[in-house]
Amino acid sequence: MNAHELVKLQSEFFAADHTKSLKFRQANLLKFKKLLKDNEQKLYDAIYADFGKSEYETYETELSLVYHELNSALKYLPQWAKIQKVTTNLANLPGTSSIHPEPLGTVLVIGAWNYPYQLSLIPAISAIAAGNTVILKPSELSAKSSEIMAHLINTNFPTDFFHVQEGGVSETAELLEQKFDKIFFTGSIPVGKIVYQAAAKHLTPVVLELGGKSPVFVLPDCDLKMTAKRIVWGKFLNAGQTCVAPDYVIVHQSIKQKLLDEMSRLVREIFDIGTELKENYVRIINKKHYDRLMQLIDNEKTIIGGSGIESKLLIRPTIMENIDFEHPVMADEIFGPILPVIAYSDLNSVIVEVKKRPKPLALYVFGKKSRDIERILTRISFGGGAVNDTVMHLTNSNLPFGGVGSSGTGNYHGEAGFKAFTHYKSILEKSTLIEPPLKYPPYNSTKLTILKRLLERP
Ligand code: NAD
Repeated sequence: MNAHELVKLQSEFFAADHTKSLKFRQANLLKFKKLLKDNEQKLYDAIYADFGKSEYETYETELSLVYHELNSALKYLPQWAKIQKVTTNLANLPGTSSIHPEPLGTVLVIGAWNYPYQLSLIPAISAIAAGNTVILKPSELSAKSSEIMAHLINTNFPTDFFHVQEGGVSETAELLEQKFDKIFFTGSIPVGKIVYQAAAKHLTPVVLELGGKSPVFVLPDCDLKMTAKRIVWGKFLNAGQTCVAPDYVIVHQSIKQKLLDEMSRLVREIFDIGTELKENYVRIINKKHYDRLMQLIDNEKTIIGGSGIESKLLIRPTIMENIDFEHPVMADEIFGPILPVIAYSDLNSVIVEVKKRPKPLALYVFGKKSRDIERILTRISFGGGAVNDTVMHLTNSNLPFGGVGSSGTGNYHGEAGFKAFTHYKSILEKSTLIEPPLKYPPYNSTKLTILKRLLERP
């Protein structure tokens, strides 16, 4: 079915109000959960085919988050969808005021390849919970994961309610020509701009979940062993192909060497990088990205890793030292297993350097001194992050997840996801008992004095 017919079909289904009742939404969320549980092995196999990733890591970084989101939506939907009474201002008394959440309509979700399930399915779950119809376009680069999502969803849900449209640039472009009620995009900044422009033609609102260079600050008083462990985990998870992965480390000069030694020791211990690399170490998605990443490696600055196994598209976890902000590796988001380390002596100047660059999607600080942590958190604008950890903030669905500036616009997860696909309709219900003559001409100075007292009150 072409994009135009598909959107028409879903818009008609939405217009007939089928998706609005909570019963419909809950039943479909439950059905979706069962579908995923019943086909978990196929989901694992597809990710293995795309990335060589283990079941454990696929559960940890993909399915657990999808189930968590489904369970949150099932549990909290009645609360999220509730009509909310609010105070009525003096000028409208007697009367009542309320906010009515309503679904937007037919929405498009465009996913990225690095976590094919969670980046596509979590927004789709939020959209269904909010009462919309959904067209999902996963990334064509993670082909097997896209195929299994299409197969499972398209054979179990009616096309006019929830449908996966597979494809690459041309299929996405065709979808983007249609009029949607919301577009939720996860991916790169350049494609984010294409999506934003296409949406503007129809005045369609968007959520853009983009990327950027996410820094890690390591302060001199940090717990060094824990810091090294959590940076190494967050960076090399999924071979660095994580939107919120630590992109680079800024460490205080006084502990730089200790941190480098400890991170190198951990890389050796965890990934066994000597010859073949540990089984299930995630591979780079394709040759183009493999070549791009290998070119970023500066052998003179590499203290561990620095090489790859081209036939398997594997790149060894790589740490580079003595990097400055002008080094080529600092130009764009790395999105691979290469960790540049910059040493600093003055926190203020390094904050200023980071602030000169686009606002990051994530930022992490390791340390104890609350004044310095506070300084970093308040002076730098970024999407979200963690103190004394990396990546884990996105697993708490009570924390809205999203970027700011060029790292994205809008957010999701938990109730924030529900809100992203909901319009909040405001209703004032007036009593017909009285109508103050104040509103009507003829106007005079006494009326103006009363009006000023009445209307300016909070
Ligand atoms: P991408 O922008 O290349 O692709 C994303 C989606 O857009 C895919 O579905 C793809 O088919 C489609 N697309 C690609 N080119 C297009 C075009 N010209 N016109 C229309 N559609 C097009 O991104 P990617 O390589 O899949 O993902 C990597 C990027 O995504 C990184 O920058 C990463 O930081 C970011 N990302 C962000 C988040 C987040 O939550 N903020 C999560 C994961 C990835």
